[in-house]
Amino acid sequence: MAASSSSASSLQWGKIGVSSQLEVREREAWGRGVYAATALSTGLEVMRAEPLVHVLSNDVRGQLCDFCLRESQSLLKCGRCKYVRYCSKTCQRGDWRFHKGECGGIARAQPHSPTPLARLVVRCLLVDAEEETQRATEFLCSNEDKLSLEVKEDAATLMVCVRLLLENPETSAMRRAYTLLCKALCNTFTIHGSGLDPIGAGIYVGPSLLNHSCRPNCVAVFNGTSMTVRTIEPVQQGHQLL
Ligand SMILES: [Zn+2]
Ligand SMILES: [Zn+2]
Repeated sequence: MAASSSSASSLQWGKIGVSSQLEVREREAWGRGVYAATALSTGLEVMRAEPLVHVLSNDVRGQLCDFCLRESQSLLKCGRCKYVRYCSKTCQRGDWRFHKGECGGIARAQPHSPTPLARLVVRCLLVDAEEETQRATEFLCSNEDKLSLEVKEDAATLMVCVRLLLENPETSAMRRAYTLLCKALCNTFTIHGSGLDPIGAGIYVGPSLLNHSCRPNCVAVFNGTSMTVRTIEPVQQGHQLL
């Protein structure tokens, strides 16, 4: 028995950038998914999203700005950790909202580089702390209760990195960090540069509602950190975007 819609529609989907041409529904076979509310033509932009949190890939560190992910010949290092680098003061200020939670931890861990996924979790903790109700992270699915042994082992290793990044974390913060890590494990997008090379990782709340298919009908493209989702074939009304 498929429920065509549910309480999901009562959430503030506008907040996470899902256009009016789309509907978010819960269906038993798929769980939560995004469906075409009207017929969609090929090449139509159906989602536009900025990352909730993002980090630069360790492979391109020193070539691109840590905040806007654009190339720059003259990157300015963070004076404290000397790890993150920015193309401008504006980018440094823009990133401080997220970087303040990891800067001390990164400085202490030198010369080791923190794992990008652990940094995303620490950044999510900060974003959560800013939002008392209807946190954006609540929109992200988590398979916390269904993790395989292998994934649980990876998660345990990543939690060691999260603990290193946080200064004297309380037990409640570590518990929350584990939940966020489980969400990050199934909702992190690789950010691609103009040459389609991976340059970063980010969590995009609206696009994370899309279910995965090996035969997708839409595709995510990046301009810096901004993500656009476009259809690559016509999608009939009521059909799922994948
Ligand atoms: Zn920049
Ligand atoms: Zn720093």
